[in-house]
Amino acid sequence: MIEITVVGAGLAGLTAALRLTERGYPVRVHERYPGAGGLARTVTIGGEPLEVFYHHIFTSDTAYVRLAQELGLDREIEWLPSRMGIWTGGRLWDFGTPGSLLRFRPLGLLDKVRFVTSTLRLQRATDAAPFEDVPASQWIRRHQGERVWESIWGPLFHQKFDRYADQVAMVWLWRKLYLRGRSRTRSGMGERLGYMRGSFDRLTSALVDRVRGQGGTLHTGDPVQRIERDGDGFTVHTRSGRHRADLVLVAAPVP
Ligand SMILES: Cc1cc2nc3c(=O)[nH]c(=O)nc-3n(C[C@H](O)[C@H](O)[C@H](O)COP(=O)(O)OP(=O)(O)OC[C@H]3O[C@@H](n4cnc5c(N)ncnc54)[C@H](O)[C@@H]3O)c2cc1C
Repeated sequence: MIEITVVGAGLAGLTAALRLTERGYPVRVHERYPGAGGLARTVTIGGEPLEVFYHHIFTSDTAYVRLAQELGLDREIEWLPSRMGIWTGGRLWDFGTPGSLLRFRPLGLLDKVRFVTSTLRLQRATDAAPFEDVPASQWIRRHQGERVWESIWGPLFHQKFDRYADQVAMVWLWRKLYLRGRSRTRSGMGERLGYMRGSFDRLTSALVDRVRGQGGTLHTGDPVQRIERDGDGFTVHTRSGRHRADLVLVAAPVP
């Protein structure tokens, strides 16, 4: 039986390990951090797990819901109506419904019309090609106007991407809006977002338990430092030593 090493115990690495161990392959998962979960990991504060980064799922995230179902956790997902606010001009504005947009004074009527029509068009577009080679900052300025970029998108992009804010491809925003549009009710007026009771770490822990139960091993705090070709397979160098693998599946972000 071929031996497989998975690099990274985020959701991708653990789900790959789940599927491989299900099929009977010996799998060892290496994770550089002391715990599993990757970007969806938690820290414990006051005895409670707190997510390192904010997370929710959309109703369109059906693969996640199916996985939760498989692990007996789908009933633990709570679907709550979302609320949005935008901080601009020294105050917080309610945002995300037609009424709140009408009351949003930082934009004039023409800006609002351009914002709504172009966002609806984006949510309905199914072809990624027109958004591949253009930065979102440029696309938005051209189609929605400078004021929309300055008061709505610009601050969000700077918060999320910092110095790369002007370089993020429009395809990223298009896909976000496309998926988000599918998390809205049919009228388009309301949106529900899913949260796991007790944090998303519950899914990570269930994955780890299942992988271990199926014979896989998890090596946390033991990063992969080098992978070398070795005949038909590989030698995997980790902080604690080295081992041989027939296949290596890298589920870590590109540096
Ligand atoms: C602020 C923020 C908010 C987000 N909000 C949402 C949201 O609301 N909804 C949503 O669906 N997604 C959200 N995401 C995205 C989501 O967190 C990621 O898409 C998902 O967790 C990625 O999982 P992954 O397994 O592909 O990668 P990661 O979680 O990055 O896992 C990769 C793992 O590889 C490990 N690793 C790296 N190098 C090595 C090495 N050399 N050896 C061993 N291990 C290594 C890392 O430590 C990490 O644990 C958000 C992300 C961020 C940052």
